Amino acid sequence: MNETFICGDYEALVSYLYDECAPNERRAISGHVAICSDCAEELVALGATREQLAMWTPPDAQLLRARATRAAGRNELNSSRSSVCPCASGSAGCQ
Ligand SMILES: [Zn+2]
Repeated sequence: MNETFICGDYEALVSYLYDECAPNERRAISGHVAICSDCAEELVALGATREQLAMWTPPDAQLLRARATRAAGRNELNSSRSSVCPCASGSAGCQ
């Protein structure tokens, strides 16, 4: 029901890109991006992101694995630090 596009409306730009918006909304958005370079650039950037998501699945999976490895490394650092107690009593519940 929204016939006026608000400049910088990211969700509306995404729905425009994916052909998910109503025809009147689509007209409002296409009319706006024709005169607004900011939103036109945003639309291009969103389109590039969509193509990257479609094409770059293997690198994304590698990135996720690299993140998981880094997270595991951080956990090891945390556990080694917490095992060193300043009071050195070693009693349970010692902070
Ligand atoms: Zn705009």
